Amino acid sequence: MEKKQFQAESKRLLEMMINSIYSQREIFLRELISNASDAIDKIYYKALTDESLRFDQDSYYIKIVPNKDERTLKIIDTGIGMTKEELENNLGVIAKSGSLAFKSEVEQKDGHDIIGQFGVGFYSAFMVADKVTVVSKALGSEEAYKWESSGADGYTIEPCEKDTVGTEITLSIKANTEEDNYDEYLDEYRLQSIIKKYSDFIRYPIKMDVTTRKRKEGSDNEFETVQEEQIINSMVPIWRKNKNELTPEDYEKFYNEKHYGFDKPLKHIHISVDGAVRYNAILFIPEKIPFDYYTREYEKGLELYSNGVLIMSKCPDLLPDYYSFVKGMVDSEDLSLNISREILQHDRQLKLIAKNIKSKITGQLQSMLKDDREKYEAFYQSFGRQLKYGVYSDFGSNKDTLQDLLMFYSSKDKKLVTLDEYVSRMPEDQKYIYYASGESIERIEKLPQTELVAEKGYEILYFTDEIDEFAIKMLMSYKDKEFKSVSSGDLGIDSKEDEKDTEATEKEHKELFDAMKQFLTGKVKDVRVSKRLKSHPVCLSTDGEVTIEMEKILRAMPNNQNIQAEKVLEINPNHEVFQSLQAAYEKDKEKLELYTHLLYNQALLIEGLPLQDPVEFSNHICKIMVTS
Ligand code: ADP
Ligand code: MG
Repeated sequence: MEKKQFQAESKRLLEMMINSIYSQREIFLRELISNASDAIDKIYYKALTDESLRFDQDSYYIKIVPNKDERTLKIIDTGIGMTKEELENNLGVIAKSGSLAFKSEVEQKDGHDIIGQFGVGFYSAFMVADKVTVVSKALGSEEAYKWESSGADGYTIEPCEKDTVGTEITLSIKANTEEDNYDEYLDEYRLQSIIKKYSDFIRYPIKMDVTTRKRKEGSDNEFETVQEEQIINSMVPIWRKNKNELTPEDYEKFYNEKHYGFDKPLKHIHISVDGAVRYNAILFIPEKIPFDYYTREYEKGLELYSNGVLIMSKCPDLLPDYYSFVKGMVDSEDLSLNISREILQHDRQLKLIAKNIKSKITGQLQSMLKDDREKYEAFYQSFGRQLKYGVYSDFGSNKDTLQDLLMFYSSKDKKLVTLDEYVSRMPEDQKYIYYASGESIERIEKLPQTELVAEKGYEILYFTDEIDEFAIKMLMSYKDKEFKSVSSGDLGIDSKEDEKDTEATEKEHKELFDAMKQFLTGKVKDVRVSKRLKSHPVCLSTDGEVTIEMEKILRAMPNNQNIQAEKVLEINPNHEVFQSLQAAYEKDKEKLELYTHLLYNQALLIEGLPLQDPVEFSNHICKIMVTS
């Protein structure tokens, strides 16, 4: 018979499975059972909308049949089955669900992680079998077909006999090797425990003939072993169970079984609502950022079930973008089964559920922040940035929901603080919430602009994420306290006397400052006496809304509109350098120009801004080294 070739991608995946050294091979059974369950779902779904089909609970099941003599393991289901074309398309072509992740990851990893992370579906059978035979009869079809493959070199399809609708998969279990024992997949106790472990919540009975010892009829002490068909799984889905019957491990198991993530969830939220809208939901806050989280490829969404039947595997309308990290599922009786994606978007029930879920998540995060700070900080490290995006996006319409969930690193305790904590310990004379922006905590700590604010004993929030300043601009104020950058022109802290002093100094040296300003035409808006500098000679500050950090970020954006901060060069009049400037002004204008450029370039460097002409800067320094 003619052998057909696998699609190239499938072939690679298959080879990986065959040669897998993955320690958790047992998951092949979970994958095949979940496919069987999906196939029964499909028939169940059809029966709900098609009068001619009657879904009779007893006739739908999954059966597992090990046979030690033949060294085979059968997985039988009474699901919807597959036509010849479906066998070809579904088993010869890599599953869509896994393929995306597979493509991007396989390049870097050698395989065995991928299996655990993505659940590769049907092909996982090849981890334990050297031949896989699928006999299937599709609903509404007269013929049955047999698909068979012994590995990467291809597969065959031919007509065959099968009385009932459904699928029967036969795995020819591999022979044991020195390192690997495959016999365990023929052992009924081992199989039972694998089913319990991974497939306990499957909604259809998973049956198996189990050997039991029974008292012989009519005898007190004589026993016989008999084969008895039993249902191995408990069948009730976890979300229908009572919360206090469930342990954290149960939720964790569910999280893994569903492939929601490959980490441990940081928190689970089990919701049962029985009001205007009825639904059950289990939501998870993951611990780690999914590898594609901050990319375009990441899709948010929750699984959506209508009365126990999966209708959408990633319903985006259930989660706001700022909670896109939440994983989990929602089951509601109030949703119609055959509802299109477009209609679903506008469904009133769904909107109610989404709103409800949103406030539950907010509530849970708030209480985590209050009661389990350590956990919250771990969460915030992973997903805090997303919350800040949330404040910024949609024109700030979510800021009230999110502002109390924000945290920033602060100068006071050198750790994350909330805005509430900051404001509640502000000294009475402090008018603003101060922040400093920069690439890293270390760099901000050394910023000259922070000197005065720090000397006053005011706490400074450190903004190291690009989004921080934009988010804060959207907030504008917190509890009536406005935010202020330590680099902003007016810090709002000097006393009347200080102000007079500065004014006097500025007046006294007006010509010097004017001359310097002249040299920096087009580069800075003004040259001024600094109030904020204590030990440093020079820094940049900004007038207006756009700060230097914002300028840097805007510059890096693809549609750079050349938005610039209005920079002001500030000079510390108490620094020795100032005397050199004065002397140069009086004696040597050329030198003053040189000094002015040097100071300006130094200020740029401190800000992490690029020098317009590094070669010239270097020449200037050499000039000084030679003349002094
Ligand atoms: P996934 O389940 O993620 O789609 P799989 O590799 O597990 O990927 O399965 C591929 C496809 O093969 C399924 O989507 C389904 O269409 C089909 N399939 C697999 N097993 C069965 C089965 N027992 N009955 C009917 N169809 C099946
Ligand atoms: Mg599958």
